[in-house]
Amino acid sequence: MLEALRRIVVDVSSAPDSRTALNLIVARVKAEIGCDVCSVYIADERRAEHVLVASDGLRPDAVGAVRLPRTGGLVGLVAARAEPVNLDDASAHPSYQFVPKTGEAPFHGFLGVPVILARRVLGVLVVQQSARRRFGDDEGAFLVTLAAQVAGVLAQIEVAEYLKPDTGSLGPGKAASRNVILSGTDSVRGVAVGSAVAVRTARVLATTPDRVADDVELELARFRSALQTEIASMRAIRLNMAPRLAEADLALFDAYILILEGGSFAGEVATGIASGNWAPGAVRHVIDRQANQLQALDDPYIRTRADDLRDLGERLLRRLRSTGEQEREYPARVVLVGEDVTATDITDVPVACLSAVVSASGTSASHVAVLARGMGIPAVFGVGNLPVAGLEGLEIVVDGYSGRVCIEPRPQLRREYLRLELEEQALSRDLERLRDHPCATADAHPVSLMANTALFADIAAARQSGAAGIGLYRSEMHFAVRDRFPGETEQAGIYRRVIRMFSPYPVSLRTLDIGGDKALPYFPINEANPYLGWRGMRVTLDHPEIFLTQLRAMLRAGEAGDRYRILFPMISQLPELDEALGLLARARAELLEEGIPVGNPEVGVMVEVPAVLYQVEAYARRVDALSIGTNDLTQYLLATDRTNSRVAALYSGLHPAVLKAIGGVAEQAAPLGCPVAVCGELAGDPAGCLLMVGLGIDSLSTSHASLNKVKWVLKSFTLNQAQRLAQEAVALESPAEVEALLSDALDRAGLGALIRAGR
Ligand code: PEP
Ligand code: MG
Repeated sequence: MLEALRRIVVDVSSAPDSRTALNLIVARVKAEIGCDVCSVYIADERRAEHVLVASDGLRPDAVGAVRLPRTGGLVGLVAARAEPVNLDDASAHPSYQFVPKTGEAPFHGFLGVPVILARRVLGVLVVQQSARRRFGDDEGAFLVTLAAQVAGVLAQIEVAEYLKPDTGSLGPGKAASRNVILSGTDSVRGVAVGSAVAVRTARVLATTPDRVADDVELELARFRSALQTEIASMRAIRLNMAPRLAEADLALFDAYILILEGGSFAGEVATGIASGNWAPGAVRHVIDRQANQLQALDDPYIRTRADDLRDLGERLLRRLRSTGEQEREYPARVVLVGEDVTATDITDVPVACLSAVVSASGTSASHVAVLARGMGIPAVFGVGNLPVAGLEGLEIVVDGYSGRVCIEPRPQLRREYLRLELEEQALSRDLERLRDHPCATADAHPVSLMANTALFADIAAARQSGAAGIGLYRSEMHFAVRDRFPGETEQAGIYRRVIRMFSPYPVSLRTLDIGGDKALPYFPINEANPYLGWRGMRVTLDHPEIFLTQLRAMLRAGEAGDRYRILFPMISQLPELDEALGLLARARAELLEEGIPVGNPEVGVMVEVPAVLYQVEAYARRVDALSIGTNDLTQYLLATDRTNSRVAALYSGLHPAVLKAIGGVAEQAAPLGCPVAVCGELAGDPAGCLLMVGLGIDSLSTSHASLNKVKWVLKSFTLNQAQRLAQEAVALESPAEVEALLSDALDRAGLGALIRAGR
């Protein structure tokens, strides 16, 4: 049976569509168990029913037509109990319900197992026998195992079933208020109501073939002309977007222009053409190769650069293969929908009309997301089974807070979202006004509010958002966008630029923090438990040649008067810190001996590993400052992988234990005069920032997009109020209780809209 199970799972996962997958499951299970019927029912939560979606043995016309009340019948019993029900004579059971449409009257033997994903019962897998039959233990175990393995497939079908209309297909003019709700896996915050407009361009990159060039010169000329037109078009787009985007976000288009104008791209394509390929084929090769190189990196930010390249490739190929489309008219409020909406798809829509973006794939780290955020519009990504073509013209509500979209919303829901949209617009106007205000509590207790950054584009954005410094510069990003370790002079130039961009405000440069989910393409680390393995300081101490180069570069980057700090990540032992400090002293001595001027940075340690919590004083005595990385501290304290969606519900910086730990660090470091900052995501959370200040933290560093929100929260509470809330919070027992306490406090302070916007 194990082999049968394996084969079914493999075939189901490679089925071209969900319907084939379902039919395959029922046919193969029926054959394997040797029963008369195998069926799958799926829960339709919207209508509180179970729908028969596939069957081998029941009447074919029953599929899609049979709907049972969610809690009714034996299927409902299996779902309600969330465990198998095995009966040799189903008809004698009190929950048995006869459903004539299925033609099931003669069946007696019944075994139903629930299909469960992330604690939710998605549906029920049923086998039946016309004679009395008690299915065996091994058959029950087989079904339970299969159900667990195909639950992911059923989760998608569930969505598709919602879209399967009772009559006819989903489309404009059909029964209004269908209220179909689809969930995405990632989003950009905000809400909008608008009309769906499908991205119009068919993707051509994957389908562009190689072809022998008839005339190499002609192909070269064609490519150059397409390139020039694309560069001009990109410049026009940049100009067009300028009214709605900050300079930092417009930098994306500069980057596109740079790629197009840069010699390496054009040169490689020209070489491809010269070796006999036609222009489209040569473009595809170069884009594929360069994008694949980026894609291979284990870093979501860099992977988005691969998407940018493909996006550019698509545009160039459309020009070369003349698949350009006609001008089209746009509704006043466009929700752009597509399989994989790209940054330049957005630019096709007149800026004033674009209200939201919904994409079947992609993440909030993509450039579309960056643009959406910059334009202040919501976006939802990873919406499985988004019926792109069928959506054109339909009204859609996009809720970037919950990561969901609602197609053809009910009037009441629609009204509510329109109200929220207006409320949000007012909120963002209010927030914008805070940009140049210092950050302080209502009773003027100052809080130093800084930004976390990684690349130059972030730094410019942080500057514009009014950050009072960089509390965390993640240096590994500059390593990740290269194909080798950057040299000392190159690094010194980067760090100098970072410091200068923020001068006279302070900057904390963190040394290389690779491992965990961050890898370098030229320095792979493959481990079974990467977060507990070779990570951060552990890697750099094992490679003094890499570490010393970085330390020398950081020391060289500063000049007299520069306020900056070198920050060591992922320290779990005092000897590690001593070793790092020793290497820093050595780097300084060497530079001075070589007659090279050095800056005068402070030194800080990141508090990310729980062991540090118990030796705070020893750490604080050795360095100038501590910086709590709540992202990792939460992960290690709660033993919850920060990147694992299965345990995402357990991961919360508002867990009382995490709050207690943070308060403890502040308390122990204070008598030693060692400042403590918080630079994890929690610092940018409306509830989190308030609690941090209440716990004695005076320095917060977070994404530049959250800065104004944090200012608004803090100026609405006195220090004493924040302290009282923090005391109450640490005495609670669960993150949910802390959330409720803070939601209530923020709501009472008139910050209800902000709580929504902050989650
Ligand atoms: C942290 O762990 O909280 C942190 C700021 O570092 P990173 O997110 O880069 O691991
Ligand atoms: Mg960290």
